[in-house]
Amino acid sequence: MNKPGNYQICNRCVMDTSDKDIQFDENGICNHCSEYDFRFRRYVFTGETAKKQLSSLVEKIKHDGNEDEYNCIIGVSGGVDSSFLAMKAKQLGLKPLAVHLDNGWNSELAVRNIENILRKLDIELFTHVLDWQEFKDLQLCFLRASTPDIEIPTDHAILATLMRTAEKMKIKYILAGGNVKTECHLPRSWSCGHNDWNYIRSINRKFGKSELKNFPHFTFFELLKKRFSQKWINLLNYFDYSPKKAKEILETEFNWKKYEGKHYESVFTRFYQGYILLKKFGYDKRRCHLSSLVCSGEMTREQALNELKISNYPDELIREDKQFVIKKLEISEDEFQRIMDLPRKTILDYSSQEKFFMASGLTKIWQIVRKII
Ligand SMILES: [Zn+2]
Repeated sequence: MNKPGNYQICNRCVMDTSDKDIQFDENGICNHCSEYDFRFRRYVFTGETAKKQLSSLVEKIKHDGNEDEYNCIIGVSGGVDSSFLAMKAKQLGLKPLAVHLDNGWNSELAVRNIENILRKLDIELFTHVLDWQEFKDLQLCFLRASTPDIEIPTDHAILATLMRTAEKMKIKYILAGGNVKTECHLPRSWSCGHNDWNYIRSINRKFGKSELKNFPHFTFFELLKKRFSQKWINLLNYFDYSPKKAKEILETEFNWKKYEGKHYESVFTRFYQGYILLKKFGYDKRRCHLSSLVCSGEMTREQALNELKISNYPDELIREDKQFVIKKLEISEDEFQRIMDLPRKTILDYSSQEKFFMASGLTKIWQIVRKII
């Protein structure tokens, strides 16, 4: 862990000591860059290898699926990665069912993007709408818990919805938009617990009014079991994926409209990343995305540093979003400010799988289990 006051920034990307666990080698290159290189070698396919791997993968998906039905599931958010993924799946001759989780915070633009893309690709959409009252209370619980993991309930519910739908429809393959080239630099301390139902339930029990009854979730053992019956594929790793080029194609062919920031298709995510995470925790999420883009050659380090100097979230929009968020969450401005002023906590302050393994001295085993799941 870095000592406070010892500022350092990676010589290759733009990750810095705002990630308290960052480590640098003798050349001043950070651990996220080493991880990027490792994952790139292992999971990203290029040239002829990519073509061969992709072709056998597609054959397998078609072979394992029912000819008349869907043979894979894709999660869609309206963002560039999942929209491009939908296009590629269709071009490969797959029969995807698109699944979307509506947590109540979709921007109009996101909804329009999803509609435009899927209509033109002739892909059917299944949308799961969260029980708003329950989800709103859960979001408030996480805000009051004062950890940076406020988006964890949404991420968990998306995974649960994809897995449940796949199980119900008897579909083995889930295609995901995650990829090494654009999202590899993610400090664990900035957001963790995506698969941790214990964590979500414990936060809800501590700060909430009632038990979660309708919230899509999965336990640790359910996840382990599904690990063997369902297959997750990060399809974009098989292409020379470039978000810049992907945006151009989507804009031209599907009338897709871009967002100012990554994951800004949701108003809450925009406010959480652009305001709460930055002001309260000092984490500029743009660093992660830009760092991956620098490593993948999508932009230079200079360009990334310049981008960080300017805000992509205008003050007027922050004010607008803030009013919208507190009104929708039904809290007062004073209460929101009290939440912002609460001392910062982490997942280890609450009952969670993470805490269980750490407290039991099973850190190494936990690292292995995390890799498996
Ligand atoms: Zn780095």
